Amino acid sequence: MATPLTPANLITALRAEGVDVVEVGSWRTHNRGTRGTGWGPVNGVMIHHTVTSGTDASVRICRDGYSGLPGPLCHAVADKAGRMHLVGHGRANHAGNGDPDVLAAVIREEKSLPAPRAASQDGNSRFYGIEAINLGDGKDPWPAAQLEAIARYTAAICRAHGWNQYSVLAHAEWQAGKIDPRGTLGTWRSTGH
Ligand SMILES: [Zn+2]
Repeated sequence: MATPLTPANLITALRAEGVDVVEVGSWRTHNRGTRGTGWGPVNGVMIHHTVTSGTDASVRICRDGYSGLPGPLCHAVADKAGRMHLVGHGRANHAGNGDPDVLAAVIREEKSLPAPRAASQDGNSRFYGIEAINLGDGKDPWPAAQLEAIARYTAAICRAHGWNQYSVLAHAEWQAGKIDPRGTLGTWRSTGH
């Protein structure tokens, strides 16, 4: 359990980890406010894929959201060139409601998570979120630079909070029926990244 990093502390941690950061507009104050259970305490970092292509369009939708789901849809967008675009800070619409048993396992930093079944735990208050630009069709490649940026971003946050790599999870591990991130990142935990 931890208090979320301030924007300034987040930037410091990301730069120290060698993340190529792009600050998008008013990201420091762009969030969903106190809806649901607000933001924090935070317990981990969740990885998603966008099901979009093109950096500019993907960053825009992650910042602004779309009809029916207001942005931000994550905190950082990982483009294929290895840059991390910061689009929001605070509560973001990325994790939705997931399984409280999964949250408990993440808090204990267990290597294996139970399969998600329930959808009763507000995840948007508990997780930082990365959207990786990928079509999620199992064919769209995951360039090394993009994977490196995601590894550095997650490492920076985990290090700043005193967490290990098992504080990182896939959206698919949180909510039944989700498949993201599909491809290389889908095996993130089991391969010990
Ligand atoms: Zn997702």
